[in-house]
Amino acid sequence: MPTLPAAWRLLLGLLLPARCVGCGDGGSYFCGACAASAPRLPFERCQVCAQPGPRDPCASCALRRPAFDRVIPAYAYDGAARNAVRRLKYANLRALAPLMAAPMADALAEDGWPPDLLLPVPMHPAQLRRRGFNQAALLAGEIAARTDVERADDAVARKLQGWAQARTASREERWAQVAYAFEPRDGASSSVADRRVAIVDDVLTTGATADAVARALKWAGVSEVAVLVFARRI
Ligand SMILES: [Zn+2]
Ligand SMILES: [Zn+2]
Repeated sequence: MPTLPAAWRLLLGLLLPARCVGCGDGGSYFCGACAASAPRLPFERCQVCAQPGPRDPCASCALRRPAFDRVIPAYAYDGAARNAVRRLKYANLRALAPLMAAPMADALAEDGWPPDLLLPVPMHPAQLRRRGFNQAALLAGEIAARTDVERADDAVARKLQGWAQARTASREERWAQVAYAFEPRDGASSSVADRRVAIVDDVLTTGATADAVARALKWAGVSEVAVLVFARRI
């Protein structure tokens, strides 16, 4: 399917009235009612990866502990929350970013884990050129504005592209593909060592990407890593 140039999409966005990604009502891209009723993760879940269920840690974290210490999700990846993730990323609906960041900032405050720094999952430069924006960076910018937590975007670099595997690869293949895709930048440890960093992303799927970013952060001396996501796949 041909994609509209970014300028045209921007113009269309200005001309067409905002419609909620959840209920279709006019006035907002993610209305208050849908933000309040979008599916959340159950209270009973793994305290490391947020996998729903009675086991803590879950079987997967017990077998192989991720490099991150906790996941802080605003929603489960379903319904209006799933629509929001898709529309932001694939329909270039950037006006969604502040509306998605608000419940993420709330989830962070409710969790009670205060980060020193925010790090949006970095995109590879080629990937960034193709999409035109990094949705994780948009969300991190909005969260930073709401929480006064500083960003540390330059702490980690993405050296491999690692895209297009989301739907096709098995869990093991995906872990292997992204395991070494990230590395701390030179000099990163002077700004991040012994600090608490929240990795910011739109969605957590297998956790492989977050694990790889967290590993790079821990190489740089970060003391604790949380993964703050708009939605976690269930
Ligand atoms: Zn709605
Ligand atoms: Zn787990």
